[in-house]
Amino acid sequence: MDATLTLGVERYVQQGQAMAAADAAQRAIMRRKRFDTIAVHGLYSMQAALANQGSIVEPAYFSSAQHFENSDHMEAALAYLMPSWTYTRIANPTVHYLEETLALLEGYGYDGEVSACAAGSGMAAIFMATSPFLAQETNARRGAAPMNIVASAKCYGGTFMLFSQRYAAERGVEVRWVRDPLDLAEWESKVDEHTRFVFGEMPSNPSLGVFDIAAVADLAHSAGAPLIVDSTVATPALMRPLLHGADIVVHSVSKSMASSGFAIAGALIARHHIPSRVGPDELRANFALYVKLLPFRDHGPAISPFNALMALNDLRTLRSRMDLLSRNALRVAEFLADHPAVEAVYYPGLPDAPEHPVARRYMWLADAADDYGQPVNRFGHLLSFAVRGGPSAARRAFDRLQMIWRATDLGRIKSVATIPAISTHQQQGDSGRALAGVPAHLIRLSVGGEHPEDIMDDLAQALA
Ligand SMILES: *Cc1c(COP(=O)(O)O)cnc(C)c1O
Repeated sequence: MDATLTLGVERYVQQGQAMAAADAAQRAIMRRKRFDTIAVHGLYSMQAALANQGSIVEPAYFSSAQHFENSDHMEAALAYLMPSWTYTRIANPTVHYLEETLALLEGYGYDGEVSACAAGSGMAAIFMATSPFLAQETNARRGAAPMNIVASAKCYGGTFMLFSQRYAAERGVEVRWVRDPLDLAEWESKVDEHTRFVFGEMPSNPSLGVFDIAAVADLAHSAGAPLIVDSTVATPALMRPLLHGADIVVHSVSKSMASSGFAIAGALIARHHIPSRVGPDELRANFALYVKLLPFRDHGPAISPFNALMALNDLRTLRSRMDLLSRNALRVAEFLADHPAVEAVYYPGLPDAPEHPVARRYMWLADAADDYGQPVNRFGHLLSFAVRGGPSAARRAFDRLQMIWRATDLGRIKSVATIPAISTHQQQGDSGRALAGVPAHLIRLSVGGEHPEDIMDDLAQALA
């Protein structure tokens, strides 16, 4: 304990320790529950409700700031000596409930400790999950040491731009793109002792690429670098990368997690004690907390408490929804694979897809044995298909859709389609799209919760 603390501050520190112990006790209780129970309740307990007028849903704290009892309380809080929220850019009680739920879901079945940091968008989360590893290391004799990052080229357009423009072009970071994420030798040839982090997206948007998480994690770890996985499309209901050796998982919470489409949100979720050759010990000990307390506070990509509440509310039904959407998507993928106007279908659930064997190893519906009597694979709601006749034929079919929304969005309970080359992956140009495997005649379809026959009817009339 800091000897300069006054007795008054000390009292709040002790109060803080009791609050943290209560949270830890509730976390331990919830870690023993099943996936759906965690999704429904998160960390919000009856005791917490009684301190909140008995409300059975998490409190919505829209206040920008927290009032303090006195200067001692303020000092203890601002020095991070006690759990507190202070100011909504730094922390917020409603956001805290979202973070705790995400950490519990992503850490479901994982033995060690897991923490989360919610952000205003998926891109904000990806930025916050990656930029701390790009700290300059200077050596008096050699100057700045070289650094590189290794990332799957099959990734979201925003991630491609963050890495290639913001990091490579503006800051001089060498980005080593892995063209074929299924090819372990390619990952291996690119990771070395100057690699700051390894990044992969699975399944990737929009080309549905996959990679062997455990093998790539081993490669990253042998170089002393963390593996970061964008698992937006799978969600923890279908895949939990931390169980397979990944260190940090990033999400666009805006997508399947907030399936109603009422909020933009993001999160990074990290296991404790991750490898990294750069940064302070706190970064390695608890990455999500380190980010939240320091770089996040300075960059300011905070999520609105309203959006956090919208996401929390949708998360409660995540598993059953991902099951339904995955079953619908498989039927739609099979229908498209047989359609004469369709040149190719990309969906890891199709048995002859090159991604299928790896996807089958990693993508399992959580607790499926309770519903189906045995574990079952589920491959998510996202698929893409190339239309015979090239870009103009793809645009004609796209323009004829009558029910499936034309929008740059996915993970909705409503079916949504886009043409990535003119939307999500437009800014990266022809060469960037070639690298990422996004041809101009590709339609990306996020299959929703409508009856699959109605989704197929709309596609049939559009492709006719
Ligand atoms: C949408 C998306 C993002 C970006 O998330 P935002 O919430 O839109 O900032 C990142 N990764 C994937 C896979 C996405 O689909």
